[in-house]
Amino acid sequence: MKIHKERGLKIVTSGELWTCLTIAIKDPLGLDEKQRPITVVTVYCALDRSWLVLMNDFSAPRSVLIDQSIRFATADHMRWSTFHYSPSGANGAPLTRAILYNCLRCGGGQGPTGCQNCGRQFNDPEQVIDSYIPLPPKVVALLWHRGFSSVLDPRQAWMKEHDQWEG
Ligand SMILES: [Zn+2]
Repeated sequence: MKIHKERGLKIVTSGELWTCLTIAIKDPLGLDEKQRPITVVTVYCALDRSWLVLMNDFSAPRSVLIDQSIRFATADHMRWSTFHYSPSGANGAPLTRAILYNCLRCGGGQGPTGCQNCGRQFNDPEQVIDSYIPLPPKVVALLWHRGFSSVLDPRQAWMKEHDQWEG
């Protein structure tokens, strides 16, 4: 077991597979000339579980499970690179990778034609993943801290996900 300190944050790796999760947060009210939503900020997360294991765990809504497994998150690409490529970083364990696209306005998951939660439309065929996973609370806190608190309100997306999870 390794202990990694990242600016006071203790990260313990048990040798299990981790996930590098990239979350592109896009604004459906800020479209480019091709009607694609502009990526306003990208958040990088280190999760202490593999993506496959996470996606096959149905014990809680996915945004909750992802949140619980976040050991490090940053919107600073330089900081992420240092962390990610450091020989003593969390990647003492092997890594899997995942990407999500989320809405800057409601925190909901986005597909190629619009936001799955607030329903705002756009056209982004390069965005191949059709995600229903809202932003995890820790990522929302990070975004609020970066000045998006007046824009981003994920409460409805979380409620909807929770209702669907209960069936
Ligand atoms: Zn939305």
